Amino acid sequence: MDTKDIERLVRPNILAMAPYSTARDECEGNPEIFLDANESPYDNGFNRYPDPHQKKLKMKVAAIKGIGAEHIFIGNGSDEAIDLAYRVFCRPGIDNAISISPTYGMYGVAAATNDVEFREVPLRKDFSLDEEALLAAADENSRLLFICCPNNPTGNSFPKEQLLRIISAFKGIVVIDEAYIDFSSGASLLAELDSHRNLIILQTFSKAWGMAGLRVGLAFASPYITGLFSNVKYPYNINGLTQEIVMKKLETSVPDTVNIVRERERAAKALSEYRGIMEVCPSDANFILVKCVDPKGLYKTLIRNGIIVRDRSGVRGCEGCLRISIGTRKENDRMLYTVGKWSSGLSPAGTSEERTVSETAVSPDETGTDRTAERRRATVFRATSETGITIMTDLDGKGPCFISTGIGFFDHMLDQIVHHSGISMLVDAKGDLCVDEHHTIEDTAIVLGKAVSEALGSKAGIARYGFVLPMDESEASVLLDFGGRIDFRWDAEFSREKIGDMPTEMFRHFFKSFAESAGCNLHICAKGENEHHKIEGIFKAFARALKAAISRDAFPYSLPSSKGVL
Ligand SMILES: *Cc1c(COP(=O)(O)O)cnc(C)c1O
Repeated sequence: MDTKDIERLVRPNILAMAPYSTARDECEGNPEIFLDANESPYDNGFNRYPDPHQKKLKMKVAAIKGIGAEHIFIGNGSDEAIDLAYRVFCRPGIDNAISISPTYGMYGVAAATNDVEFREVPLRKDFSLDEEALLAAADENSRLLFICCPNNPTGNSFPKEQLLRIISAFKGIVVIDEAYIDFSSGASLLAELDSHRNLIILQTFSKAWGMAGLRVGLAFASPYITGLFSNVKYPYNINGLTQEIVMKKLETSVPDTVNIVRERERAAKALSEYRGIMEVCPSDANFILVKCVDPKGLYKTLIRNGIIVRDRSGVRGCEGCLRISIGTRKENDRMLYTVGKWSSGLSPAGTSEERTVSETAVSPDETGTDRTAERRRATVFRATSETGITIMTDLDGKGPCFISTGIGFFDHMLDQIVHHSGISMLVDAKGDLCVDEHHTIEDTAIVLGKAVSEALGSKAGIARYGFVLPMDESEASVLLDFGGRIDFRWDAEFSREKIGDMPTEMFRHFFKSFAESAGCNLHICAKGENEHHKIEGIFKAFARALKAAISRDAFPYSLPSSKGVL
């Protein structure tokens, strides 16, 4: 296609119109006094109209994308470019647009507002593109074809060759929406613009660049098409403040995709192991589409826990599916924890009950023979009239970590256990803190002891491990023995009443309750002046002793290995 062919696709009224122009467009030279736009002359930083062509910003984007500025249109979000595509190319009530299904909803919404027929061609069951069906949906009035790649909400990409075949075969304008291209292992089609005049590529600063709140979307196309878009848009579509801030952001930051992609893979793997999740769709984007046994139930559980995801179960082709965006590690952990809890059928409500779910995932062909194939983990839930506590432990450290007891210093100490033992833990404790900290700390210790013990399974072959830890001027030593009788000794004194928000009398009580519940022999002794160091030393030494006690080396022998023991 050449420019003449594209021109034939443009609505006659758009071709005929004279765009709004400003005096500053027409002016040559360097004016110093601006009496052309009826602005206020008093400089308050915002008294002048912004650059309607966003020249500086386009130069910056051009440099980042390696493309000429004349190929760039900047919109108030990608949504503006989507709407403009309809307004420029589709005669209301006459022309039609084609897209895939399921996909991003705005293509259909913009079609409706512009009175343009919208034809949806379903993706195949595996979300691949049915190229023939897509092209067969076109007739002589088909002006636009939208393909989102990576696709929202399915998360997959389509092969580049297939897209190029479609762009070559379609007689109208093809819009490839690359909103998620930064997260994709595939390449952008930007390099194809010169050889395909009917191609518009959408990208955005809303996702990987982290500027959703600023509303800046990008369209890349031939200068002829970007020119048409500029004629039709509101003259000052990107406000001055936004232009300024985006410039700064582009100069000082890069899109963070590495962490998101890493988190995406971690979350996908964790989700795939939950019983309630039937399928985790492979994703090239910053979200994951998961098919679950009871999408509404999971959705409500997540909402109750303060987590909102996108329910796509009502969308044709996405039956049973929720779309989950990738958050920070902590946020993902909380999401995974909540999904895990939902999955194991544990309800946090209820009174005075105790349930345990131990999960040991053994590869089916080697049942019971290869111990290293086992995941040693357990989830224990306990509810009394004073507390509701759920703890999940994964002794092999592959699970998520999340700790919340409502007692800051206690959380900090439990964090020490996670970091120094290598155990993954989810601790969700809700207790009667308005009375005092006693029940919450005691019950957390009981549930933790049980969860560690459940996850360990048979303790045969485990004996005594100890750890001495110097901590500045303090020193803590902990002896731990899972093989012997239950015994507890404590030799550490605290004169302060509280450290942080945790009563010091509860330190001893925590470990005593743990020892009784886990069924172990635990001796703790600490000396020193700084009481904060002293208790931190105890928790760290405890974690180290635990790490040695649960290490895999200990299992195959009837006598304990000395490996990892100090
Ligand atoms: C998020 C998203 C966009 C971006 O929209 P903005 O208006 O730029 O924020 C575009 N297309 C798809 C498919 C999206 O999911």
